[in-house]
Amino acid sequence: MAVMTRPLLNRRLAAFGTTIFAEMSALALRTGAINLGQGFPDTDGPEQIREAAVRALRDGRGNQYPPGPGVPELREAVAEHQLKHYGLTYDPDTEVLVTVGATEAIAASLLALLEPGDEVIALEPYYDSYAACIAMAGGTRVPVTLRPHDGAFRLDLDELRAEVTDRTRLILLNTPHNPTGTVLSRAELTVIAELAQERNLLVVTDEVYEHLVFDGAEHLPIASLPGMRERTVTIGSAGKTFSFTGWKVGWITATPELTAAVRSAKQFLTYVASGPFQYAVAEALRLPDTYFDDLRADLLARRDLLSDGLAGAGFTVYRPAGTYFVTADIRPLGTSDGIAFCRALPERAGVVAIPNAVFYDHREAGAPFVRFAFCKRTAVLQEAVERLGRLTR
Ligand code: PMP
Ligand code: GLN
Repeated sequence: MAVMTRPLLNRRLAAFGTTIFAEMSALALRTGAINLGQGFPDTDGPEQIREAAVRALRDGRGNQYPPGPGVPELREAVAEHQLKHYGLTYDPDTEVLVTVGATEAIAASLLALLEPGDEVIALEPYYDSYAACIAMAGGTRVPVTLRPHDGAFRLDLDELRAEVTDRTRLILLNTPHNPTGTVLSRAELTVIAELAQERNLLVVTDEVYEHLVFDGAEHLPIASLPGMRERTVTIGSAGKTFSFTGWKVGWITATPELTAAVRSAKQFLTYVASGPFQYAVAEALRLPDTYFDDLRADLLARRDLLSDGLAGAGFTVYRPAGTYFVTADIRPLGTSDGIAFCRALPERAGVVAIPNAVFYDHREAGAPFVRFAFCKRTAVLQEAVERLGRLTR
């Protein structure tokens, strides 16, 4: 029935295909391989928080449309969280917006803040939805590549500065950074903040891994630097911090003007979602410090288990300072094509990983890197390490 002469999928989206996460999770299911691809924990978050969701559902809280900006309990909890952890003050009524995960927060921010033709500077490798959302908003992405240096992927601040033009509207940050695990330092963020003010740029900053930092690395929201609160949209999510990725509860904090702008787009994307879960996440955000400390300690042990295993299997490992992903270089294994490597890995070793190349415009810069998730049970990671060890045996 080839009656359509024009492609069905519009030009803005045609380049994107299926997200790598769906592709690789389907491959894991098909082959029975261990899925260290898509970043989701294989155990649920705190029982107490699950119960809070059940209670909300039973008590009829959130079973009908919650308010557009999110339930007041959650907006208050988000504001309290930003104050407690970072000393940032936000008004729950005008400066907090609940979204359908960070994914919708990213989409709504870009759709609200960009005019067609605006340029967006994004750290490369970039989380895949950034590129698609910039495209849907009619913007142009300008990637600035994080390059391996002394065991970590680092940002070249001169390169960043050189990419700013009169068309640049915003800088899209992600720290801690998926997939490299880089945590931007105070010094780096200070330079970015100065640049944003000098060139009058907005900053949208995706901080969904804010609590997953290791080895004394500190997560610093750029909104807390002088002059930045008024030009920054900060994005958070319950998915990573509380291990409930299926609940899709996220949020932004920003000035009333920025929040209102993002809300204008958000109201026509989903209007609202996740009613009962919003109450549960409000409770989660108020968990004592021990919860966050235990989460970090637990993930640190898994990071080291997987990183040591990968190094033992012959990979060059970039042990991450944050997130629950580890990026590894496959060149010591005799190949530099990460995409082909990941497609073959389930058959070769019974493990699924993500090729970082798909997060690059400069594909060659990302070609030899692959990403493994370590938010999995210890026994699963041990088995994955054992299997990966067979690559060189
Ligand atoms: N940003 C980054 C950097 C991510 O890794 C993810 C994946 N969870 C998201 C945003 C999406 O978050 P959510 O599941 O809350 O939509
Ligand atoms: N953020 C998760 C990751 O980076 C995946 C989320 C998704 O499947 N869209 O692996």
